[in-house]
Amino acid sequence: MIDLNALKAKLAETCKIVITTHHKPDGDAMGSSLGLYNYLIQKGHHVKVISPTDYPYFLQWLPNNPEVIIYTDAVAESQALVADADLIFCLDFNTLSRINELGEEVRKAKAIKVMIDHHLEPEGFDDFRHWNINACATAELIYDFIVNLLNDGELINKDVATCLYTGIMTDSGSFRFPNVTANLHRIVAVLIEAGAENWRIHQNVFDNASEGRLRFLGYCLSNKLEVLREYNTALITASKEDIAKFDIQTGETEGIVNYALSLSGIKLAAFIVERKDKIKLSLRSVGTFPANEICKKYFNGGGHRNAAGGQSDESLETVVAQFKAVLPEYKNLLLQ
Ligand code: 5GP
Ligand code: MN
Repeated sequence: MIDLNALKAKLAETCKIVITTHHKPDGDAMGSSLGLYNYLIQKGHHVKVISPTDYPYFLQWLPNNPEVIIYTDAVAESQALVADADLIFCLDFNTLSRINELGEEVRKAKAIKVMIDHHLEPEGFDDFRHWNINACATAELIYDFIVNLLNDGELINKDVATCLYTGIMTDSGSFRFPNVTANLHRIVAVLIEAGAENWRIHQNVFDNASEGRLRFLGYCLSNKLEVLREYNTALITASKEDIAKFDIQTGETEGIVNYALSLSGIKLAAFIVERKDKIKLSLRSVGTFPANEICKKYFNGGGHRNAAGGQSDESLETVVAQFKAVLPEYKNLLLQ
């Protein structure tokens, strides 16, 4: 571990820096990564953002998005950058398995590893951490890192502000989750003053759907929604064939689980989808119900209490049956 003064001393030199984030990055992952990128380039560092995988088109408008390298498209280049870096920033994740094969490259790299994150239970691969599970988004912590730890508030320019606003907006469910605080709104006010255009960012992320995505949503709600009133649980399942039929792209299933949660009285919602090589579960819950516990215990995953995910190599039918079989264990909590 190094302390803040040592990190500041390192950042006072011109550094080779890699920023990386979790696979299938979401708005907070990309907003945090490009927010930090747009800050660090103002300090004269040589910075690269490496995403372990591709990410949705509704995030590809972020300032300096063309600078992002996709690991799977440029393995040798990415490995060389990671091996050569002075500093590696690991954003919005805290176990190296979340960045796939890139994880082992980061683990063996000589760089100082800085983790900035808001998930539970860090693995401990980092040399410096700015970690707070009460933060609503990693982007909130990036803001705090730049403004309060590095005293560089004047470098929150329009590009940085736009990226950080995107991360906070997406991870807070558009400013509605319980971890949205008065202080978060003060941060958002500063980001808007710095040039973040709230309406345009919202439109770019949320009003940018393909026709297939909207029709897929309608299909899911009409045909694939199952409401288990005896457990206050609702689930939506989608097969590989459904995904292909509507030409659903990376990230386009994001948010569908929230429709199941929008039902009155529902405490737990699940979206279970068959991907190319595995089954992916997205769980959402209300109040104190621990969606992350189910993901961790039964589906090789984890996450936050109210938003968690997991995966399985079993068939879709098996995973759906396994999910339903878990519910009796949680019946008391679900019916509270
Ligand atoms: P989503 O349902 O949007 O894929 O994921 C919601 C949250 O659950 C993410 O922000 C992340 O914290 C967590 N999560 C999703 N999938 C996984 C996983 O496979 N492993 C772990 N540890 N966390 C996950
Ligand atoms: Mn996040």
